[in-house]
Parts: sequence; C-alpha cells; structure tokens
Amino acid sequence: MTKRVLFLISDTGGGHRAGAQAVGAALDEIDGATRFEWRIDDIATHCTFPLSKLGPAYSAALRYAPPIYGALYYATNGRRRYKTIVRFCEPLYRERLRDVFTQYQPDVIVSVHPLLNHAALRARADAGMQHVPIVTVITDLGRVHEGWLLPEADLTVVPAREVYQRAIERGVPPERLRLLGHPIHPRFEDVSGSKAEYRKKLGLPEKATIALLMAGGEGGGKLLPTTLGLAKAGLDFHLVVVTGRNAALKAKLEELAPSLPTPMTVLGFRHDVPELMRAADLLVTKAGPGTIAEASVAEVPVVVYDYVPGQERGNLDYVRTNGIGVVALSTAEVVSSVRRIVHNQERLATMRSQQTAIAPRGSSRRIAELIAEIAKTGRRPTIPAAG
Ligand code: UDP
Repeated sequence: MTKRVLFLISDTGGGHRAGAQAVGAALDEIDGATRFEWRIDDIATHCTFPLSKLGPAYSAALRYAPPIYGALYYATNGRRRYKTIVRFCEPLYRERLRDVFTQYQPDVIVSVHPLLNHAALRARADAGMQHVPIVTVITDLGRVHEGWLLPEADLTVVPAREVYQRAIERGVPPERLRLLGHPIHPRFEDVSGSKAEYRKKLGLPEKATIALLMAGGEGGGKLLPTTLGLAKAGLDFHLVVVTGRNAALKAKLEELAPSLPTPMTVLGFRHDVPELMRAADLLVTKAGPGTIAEASVAEVPVVVYDYVPGQERGNLDYVRTNGIGVVALSTAEVVSSVRRIVHNQERLATMRSQQTAIAPRGSSRRIAELIAEIAKTGRRPTIPAAG
C-alpha cells in the first residue's frame, strides 16, 4: 500500500525546505507494508502576483531592508490583523491550492510554513477533503509568529518547550500538540567519522582551529562584514565560509580571500553541512533555527552575529538561556567573543555539553513516524500530549 504526504513550504530562507526534506528522508527509512510517497510543494509557485514572488521578495527584504521586514513581521503578528491579511490574500492562492490537493490526493497535508496553515485549511475545505488531516511542523523557536499557531490544525509539532507554551497560550489544545524537536535531517546523526577524517575529505587543514561561517540558505545579511572582521583580526585559525545561494557574495569573497591575512575556504550552497559542522571547532552564524539545532547535534558551539528581525529574535534567547553559544551582534563584538572563546577549551566543552543536553536527536524520525501513523489511520493518534 502507498500513502501520500504533501509538504507545503515556501522558499523564504532555507529552513522550511530543509525541515520538509528532513522529515521526508525519515519517511523513506520507515520499513513495513506501507510505502510513503512524498512531495514538497513551494506554494508560491502556484500563486498569482505578488505572492508568486514571495521567495525572491523575502531574500531582497533581508538583503537590502531588514528593518522593513521586521516592521512587517510585527505588524502582521496579531490574531485579528493576521486574519485580515489571510482574507485579503486568499483569492491569490485559493483555487490553485485546491487543485494541488485534488490532483495529488494526499493522505496527510503537512504545513512547514507560518503563512500556509490557514491556506491549507481553506483549500482542504474547498477540495471537499476534510477527512485528510493537516499537520503543522513549526520550524521557529521562541515567540513564534501568529500564523504558525492554528487551533484548528489536526496536529501541531513544536520544536521547543518555549513554543509549546506559546501554542497553549494561543489556544492550541494540548491533545493536538506534540513536542518532538526541530526537524533536522537524519544525516546529522548518521555522520560517524572523526573530525580529522572529515577535514581530510573536505580538503581542510587537519591541525588548524576551524571557524565555520554561515548565514542560512540565502547567505546574505552581515556575512560579508563578519567574515572580513574575523579575517583581519589576526587570530590563528582557518575560516570556512558558506555563502549559500548568494553567488555574488561567493565571487566577492573569492576575489578578496588571497589578500586577507587569515586563510579561508569559500564555499557556495552545500549539501554536506553535517560534515562541515563536524569538521569545525566553532560556528559563527546568523540565528537560523535550523542551523542552531543542527549545530547542537553536531556539538559545535555557536557565535550568533545576526538575526532576521522579528522572526529570529527568540532564537537569540534560546542560544543564551541554553548556554550553547554567545550572541554578538556587531562585528567588533564577534571578534572579541571569538577571540575569548576560540582557544578556551573549557568554555567550548561546557557549551558542547549543553548542546548534547538539548540536541533534537531523532526529531525527524519521530515526526515521520507520527505522520506515517496519521497517513495510515487517517487520524491523529490518541497518545497523551508531550510537554
Ligand atoms: N543550508 C544548506 N546548505 C548551505 C546553507 C544552508 O543545506 O549551503 C541549510 C542549513 O543546514 C539549514 C538551512 O539551510 O538546514 C537553513 O535554515 P535556517 O533555519 O538556519 O535559516 P534560513 O535559511 O531559513 O533563514
């Protein structure tokens, strides 16, 4: 028997697709008489303008006008205001999304994006498919946006205790909530080689202290000034910079690298982040929830240098309160923080043990098992709520 799972995302950043892929990969691992077929749908590709440009608009907003994005985030983050926006946007996607549902005939619909939960409910009703359960998998930490928390969703999977509490406050019934951890790709747990082996495989120096720099899937924001600040700081280490989909930044850094005093490896979008994290001693990153969760599983302490206004603010508190790294929001602070901790083995070890304690190990496999059960039975399992 085959069951179909439809993941709804939008490529605003890399985290939503990464979360869906992680759960999909875990679905592929499930043995048994039932086979799971899954598909990831970027809903913006079915919408009319301006929603059709959601991904590029998000990248542009973050690259050129983060405060405007932050203002929009806060302006939409209220139940009444959000409902008004949903009503206004519905005509732009309603029919197309209904057609996606009727054509694919999923057994479960999984929303991995805050803007798609109401949309999924509406389109499900339009398609006359009320029997198909809708599961929301939240990929943000802290005080998540109103759009994520839909009491009517059949099940909401949350990554952290803070989000669980917020969901309860916003009226999501506890029996529809599961605290299962951020959905990180099973590969992060399956890497079993040593640091030296991964360095060799990646062509990185075996003995040097390595700082890995990342800025989510888009690779924008303050990645350039942060890299230059660290490269000029006269620290004895090797930098590995992952520029993600930002090809212009990659080209610029490749041009600058030979004239900088610190050795540097510049990489574009990579599919071997688990190995890169294992090879590194320290991760210098923007506050992407996926990257932070992955770093905990890879046990590489983090220095957070930037965050997406609104949406990633809660992630700064998450890093601080869990003691898994430091937050340093200017280039000067990044340099002084990295200088303080990069050779402080005791401090790094403490952060690593904090990471071990909170790492969302097995998260995607647990989420996949839950979705598989829902797909098979057509119902949310009646196990007691976690959290
Ligand atoms: N990522 C990747 N390759 C890259 C850069 C990033 O696979 O070259 C992944 C990263 O491992 C994480 C996701 O993209 O899973 C980024 O998600 P996050 O929530 O950290 O930030 P976002 O991109 O959504 O802002």
